Amino acid sequence: MSIDDELQKKTFFYVPFLLLTHCVLIVDNLWINEVAMTNWDYSVFWHEAMKQIHQEISEQEWAMWFNIEYESSEENSVIVSVPSSFYKDQVSQRSQSRIETKIQEISGLPLHLEFIVKKRDAHVKDRAIPDTETKPTQQALKTSSQVQEFSKHHQLMEHYCFESYVIGDNNMFASNAAIAISKNLGTLYNPFLIYGGVGLGKTHLMQSIGNAVWKANQKTKIICVTAESFTNEFIDMIHTKKSPQDFKNKYRTADLLLIDDIHFFQEKEGTQEELFHTFEALYGSNKQMVFTCDRPVSELKNFSDRLRSRFERGLNVDLQPPNYETRFAILKKKCDNHKKPIPGEVLDIIAKNITSNVRDLEAALMKLLAYSDLVKKDITVEIAQNQLKDIFSQPKQGNITQEIIMKVVADYFNLSLNEIKGKKKTKAVVFPRQLAMYITREITEFSTTEVGIEFGGRDHTTVMHSCQKIEEKLKSDPMLDTTVQKLIRTIKETSTKN
Ligand code: ADP
Ligand code: MG
Repeated sequence: MSIDDELQKKTFFYVPFLLLTHCVLIVDNLWINEVAMTNWDYSVFWHEAMKQIHQEISEQEWAMWFNIEYESSEENSVIVSVPSSFYKDQVSQRSQSRIETKIQEISGLPLHLEFIVKKRDAHVKDRAIPDTETKPTQQALKTSSQVQEFSKHHQLMEHYCFESYVIGDNNMFASNAAIAISKNLGTLYNPFLIYGGVGLGKTHLMQSIGNAVWKANQKTKIICVTAESFTNEFIDMIHTKKSPQDFKNKYRTADLLLIDDIHFFQEKEGTQEELFHTFEALYGSNKQMVFTCDRPVSELKNFSDRLRSRFERGLNVDLQPPNYETRFAILKKKCDNHKKPIPGEVLDIIAKNITSNVRDLEAALMKLLAYSDLVKKDITVEIAQNQLKDIFSQPKQGNITQEIIMKVVADYFNLSLNEIKGKKKTKAVVFPRQLAMYITREITEFSTTEVGIEFGGRDHTTVMHSCQKIEEKLKSDPMLDTTVQKLIRTIKETSTKN
């Protein structure tokens, strides 16, 4: 975000607030002086200041020295509480002036902090903070049940760890490679690239490497970003004329770089170039890189060859949809985490009915857990069937694989599967191919990207274009609709047989 945007945002946000606060003060001063005293409220400035400071400092510093809670406001002062006198002394030395400067900057008012000591309920506070009069020792922190939160890496989702990842036939190779890499950074397989369809566990597995490394050594510089935020940061650097050096320093000094969804880099030439140099720098100094992608690297479009070849240099492993046993095991594990008893037969019907990916599996389970929470009933097979009937009706269609659609359409036009998937551009092939893509989009949940992958690694824009073509033809040719309906019927019949 540019400085202008930032300023605009602040102005948008604060000016009405300031006006309101000031109006209240004036009105109060004029008529009801006593009440005015209770009407100061600088909490919004406090929270914004905390938010900004949190972004500026290390997670460790934040966890250690910002266990401060807003209490109330008085004229020109913000009253905050800290858990002990020791803490108060420490904070006033370490952070008070920083916080005051920030609040004054945000509010434009001469605000000061005033501390009160207030003992916290253990369960309320979730950070590992010294709440006694003694200086915290590493030992004390280690024995605290809150250590995990204290040591959390700010870019990693803590629950995306190996412990919560169920290994099945579909992901065995990728998981074992990931575990091995987390123990041998930069030396075993570099880069490591995990690819596969949506919701199959790519992000989870990639972040598990990060979390395992972080747990073993918090001195490791781990950077975990999506390709999208890497791109935005790069663009931002150019537009705001920030120093390219900062960007370079940040990425090229990582010990472990994790970038999610690199298919996003397609068509982004400038960012690809920057990533290439980052890659070279890290590779040259044996720093580990891990990437995820929704398709094999060879199928990326508008992607620089040199970058593609760098990605292929390491280990590329795909994730497949899980089989029944793995789906059941995943559900079981997620249930255990929620400490909710869900009968095995309920898990069984979910695992049988939802075959597409883990994310959908999880969504179904979440729905049942929410239901049982809200309605205060135990989940039975009947409840599950009833609650999930909408989701379950899709998998019936979900059994319709892209392969079946391509095969039925190819047969109808007397083509082979290879021809319909292939590169040939004759009219006799192009039309059936477009029709098959259109039908796939009509009767399944596959995205244009996924359809493109199945159709010989075509770009999602090609799929969109094909669908538009058929839509146009459907408008002018009523006979085509009959053909489409007939094909859909055959596809459905074929898929229920399988
Ligand atoms: P992707 O990045 O491939 O789209 P995610 O990693 O976001 O998929 O996974 C989707 C959801 O499914 C996440 O909540 C993740 O925790 C869960 N998940 C995927 N695979 C597994 C697995 N093998 N074991 C446990 N949970 C999984
Ligand atoms: Mg993902």
